[in-house]
Amino acid sequence: MRYSMLFGKTTKDAPHDADSANARLLTQAGFISQLTAGVYTYLPLGLRVLTKIQAIVREEMNTLGAQEVLMPALHPKQLYEATGRWEEIDVMFKVDGAGGKEYGLSSTAEEVITPLVKEHVRSYRDFPVALYQIQDKFRNEPRAKSGLLRGREFSMKDLYSFHLTEEDFLEFYEKAKVAYLTVYLRCGLKAMIAAASGGVFTKKHSHEFQVPTEAGEDKIYINKETKEALNKEVVPESDWENTDTYDIVKSIEVGNIFPLECKFSNAFELKTQGSDGEMIDIIMGCYGIGPSRVMGSIVEVHHDEKGMIWPKAVAPYHVHLITLPAKEEEMTERIETTATSLIEEFEQAGIEVLWDDREEVRAGEKFADADLIGIPLRLVISQKTLTEDSVEWKERHESEARLVKLEDVGGQAQEWLSVPERLTSHE
Ligand code: ATP
Ligand code: MG
Repeated sequence: MRYSMLFGKTTKDAPHDADSANARLLTQAGFISQLTAGVYTYLPLGLRVLTKIQAIVREEMNTLGAQEVLMPALHPKQLYEATGRWEEIDVMFKVDGAGGKEYGLSSTAEEVITPLVKEHVRSYRDFPVALYQIQDKFRNEPRAKSGLLRGREFSMKDLYSFHLTEEDFLEFYEKAKVAYLTVYLRCGLKAMIAAASGGVFTKKHSHEFQVPTEAGEDKIYINKETKEALNKEVVPESDWENTDTYDIVKSIEVGNIFPLECKFSNAFELKTQGSDGEMIDIIMGCYGIGPSRVMGSIVEVHHDEKGMIWPKAVAPYHVHLITLPAKEEEMTERIETTATSLIEEFEQAGIEVLWDDREEVRAGEKFADADLIGIPLRLVISQKTLTEDSVEWKERHESEARLVKLEDVGGQAQEWLSVPERLTSHE
């Protein structure tokens, strides 16, 4: 992709309410554009990142054995009357439709998926069922803030599972935990599992996936001895300042999984007849990840004073190629043809390149833009490098650049891409 053609360029302006690194950097680098508080457009660079995160989530959900569906976001009110949640979900956006009908915009989807499963299963042999979707959710958050971390419209992957026995549910629940941790690791985040109370759902524990970072609005309590993590709300109030027992760290909730027991299956009379003729209540679980919040969290954890530092697996492009025009036209042409053939070689090997081909822009500005955008590998082709038949190679998290021979750069880049980075925080 030629940077000169890319829609959404870097800008020095941060949004006036940019209260977080992710809001500021993603906006300045041309990844997102705020429509109104908590509502963003993903520009081409930002959409590439979001899509890669969603693809990782999708792969891990498929590996877990779940199947993808896409449910509507417009939910008729009467579904919520069956569960009593029309008034209970205080963040639901409510919409008046034609003919006096009322709708809620999807903030979660138990009221849609439970009747859906009831309609489509025929016998106990159809269980267990695990269905997920990746869909925008709407929540009328009293205070949208911190860029992608707390939006009013945001991307969510929501998975729901349906089981005949508690045992089967628990087995799936534990596998889902592993799948979640894998998602975060692949996205460059080290998440911890924290036990939390079940909120509106259940008296039992739910589990949150928390990424420790100063930018987080949650607090987790890590028991110094057992290393077990707890959400603040399950720690007795008398222990809230107890730093002898706990390491208390700020963190972002990037995922949450809940045992739902039979709350929704009972509300919608989802039951099945077992092999012995007895009716079986269906046990449910729900499992959420916010890909857009994950994107914001990656920026919070991986940035420095110059800009973002994307992990390879979710970077908008793998390589940021900069060409610097020379004084002589002949040399400039040679730089261009070298760049073009290098890009062709890279793209055949699956290496994605953003090429800063701008002619009117000075070198310093190109380097600053590359640092801000944060693509993990920067390559420069200039008169200076070509006199050595080389390309300048610099990884975004390193301070030193080095020269790599033109004939070796393709192979080295492939090798570089195949090695996942170590999980260090750049905070
Ligand atoms: P929070 O406590 O942060 O408000 P929640 O517990 O209400 O979140 P869940 O219902 O568990 O959120 O939603 C599942 C996941 O969706 C969360 O773990 C988070 O990753 C994401 N998410 C929830 N609310 C938002 C939001 N307003 N903006 C972006 N992502 C969100
Ligand atoms: Mg939650």
